[in-house]
Amino acid sequence: MKKFKQVLSQIMIIICLSSFITPEAAEFTNLPIVVTVQAAYNKATIYDVQEALNNAGYDCGTPDGVVGKNTKTSIRKYQKDNDLKVTGTINKTLLKMLGITVTKSSSSNSTKTEATVYITRTGSKYHRSGCRYLRQSKISISLTEAKKNYDPCSVCRP
Ligand SMILES: [Zn+2]
Repeated sequence: MKKFKQVLSQIMIIICLSSFITPEAAEFTNLPIVVTVQAAYNKATIYDVQEALNNAGYDCGTPDGVVGKNTKTSIRKYQKDNDLKVTGTINKTLLKMLGITVTKSSSSNSTKTEATVYITRTGSKYHRSGCRYLRQSKISISLTEAKKNYDPCSVCRP
């Protein structure tokens, strides 16, 4: 019985040590984790949220598809004013309230057989992901749909 207690205390020490190590290890990986969480919604969706918030009178600056400080503040204000849970981040409830339909990101949609290309708010060309013309705005669209209304970009040749 004495030996059992000894083993038990050793296990406890290991558990205690590992719980001390974990937060330290998490600190090193902190940055990529934050990025992953926010990447749950793609740029087109974030863009729509920013535009909708601006229209509703919650100024987040010029929509850029990136959740920055202004956007977070606006989301918080909007959530507070509308009796939503104040998170400062985009979630399903917020999107529903703003009347936004989520454009599925190509990575999370494995059943899709169609290729996705991107258009901009103002341009008449469609682009491949990562094209320099997509820096201002990036809206995902199916290739079939893009071919109907847009011309291929001469730089990235989608
Ligand atoms: Zn292009």
